[in-house]
Amino acid sequence: MFRLYNIMTQKKELVPKKTGIYVCGITPYDVAHLGHASLYVFYDVLIRYLRYMGRRTLYVQNVTDIDDDILKKAKISGKNWRRLGDENTRYFLTQMDRIGNERPDIYCRATDHIPEMIEIIRSLVKKGKAYESNGNVYFSVSKFKKFGTLSKLKKNEMLPIANERGNNPDDENKKDPLDFVLWQRSGEDEASWDSPWSKGRPGWHIECTAMARKYMKKADIHGGGSDLIFPHHECEIAQDPSVYRGTIWVHKAMVYYQGKKMSKSLGNLVMAENLLKSHTANAVRIAILMHHYREEWQFSESEMHKATRLDKKLNSVWDMQSGTAPFDISSYEEDFFAFLNDDMQTGPALETLVRLSEAMTPGKYISSAKAFMTRAFSILGLRPEW
Ligand SMILES: [Zn+2]
Repeated sequence: MFRLYNIMTQKKELVPKKTGIYVCGITPYDVAHLGHASLYVFYDVLIRYLRYMGRRTLYVQNVTDIDDDILKKAKISGKNWRRLGDENTRYFLTQMDRIGNERPDIYCRATDHIPEMIEIIRSLVKKGKAYESNGNVYFSVSKFKKFGTLSKLKKNEMLPIANERGNNPDDENKKDPLDFVLWQRSGEDEASWDSPWSKGRPGWHIECTAMARKYMKKADIHGGGSDLIFPHHECEIAQDPSVYRGTIWVHKAMVYYQGKKMSKSLGNLVMAENLLKSHTANAVRIAILMHHYREEWQFSESEMHKATRLDKKLNSVWDMQSGTAPFDISSYEEDFFAFLNDDMQTGPALETLVRLSEAMTPGKYISSAKAFMTRAFSILGLRPEW
């Protein structure tokens, strides 16, 4: 009975036995930081746990490799946008490998799916849900009555948030400032693809809908950072509601540092590479997993010390010798799985392992405890110390 909290229905829901998970990936215009690590470690553990339970899973993650930010960064750095994106994507994957994440089953690039995006846009225009203006195509939010059902935002609350996250309310080609870009005409020297409307490039939101539709038809679980709920995920639903029928929307809360959300624009980043210079991958994962995925948390060195202490304690069990006194671990196992089954409570699950390691004292028969600890380590993506 594995349940996850669905922000759409605001209830914990049973996860289907066959589970397709789509997680929004990076825009590769910059390097990997703790915010990324926190996000992708959580989905890695979710996938590991589903697989541990014997579920059939498909994990799709995308790369938004064409985007205004990439083009801007490429211009500033004098690099070709594709080369810049490829380099940063490789770097990101290397950092995620080092942190112990398994690679997704399908890792797809937006620019490999332009025809699929054009097809959806064309059908939206045909149905009257989107309109062309000056070589650009926009989705008309007034044509989708359910716009706002995911984020629970009212119309007047939407615009300021959308503007912070890439929307241009002053675009004169739009009928409504909230209408969002499906296709935009590219400048002379910018990356572009042929389309029925202009030589241009896709908008951000259509990229994910096209890839989710192609690889899974219907996303059973859709993930990403909580900053993607609006407008990104709200727009994804509007573009093709059939892909998101019954989807469980699971978002990872933000990491804070120095009192503010860790973000490129605020400049308060903790780079994954630097973190891994002074801490083990296990400690980084534990620091992330000590907090529930829906809980915002503040990164600090004292958090890392705590995580390192827990890692040492958990790893202290491997060299213990087993005795013969009976040692019943069933309550620890039950607790561990009960916490994970109830909306992935990784913090209490970790504490259960710590309690178990403390109970493994000399003289007790601890072979089953060690075997359970090995299974728990693999679910959480932790490596036994070598
Ligand atoms: Zn996305």
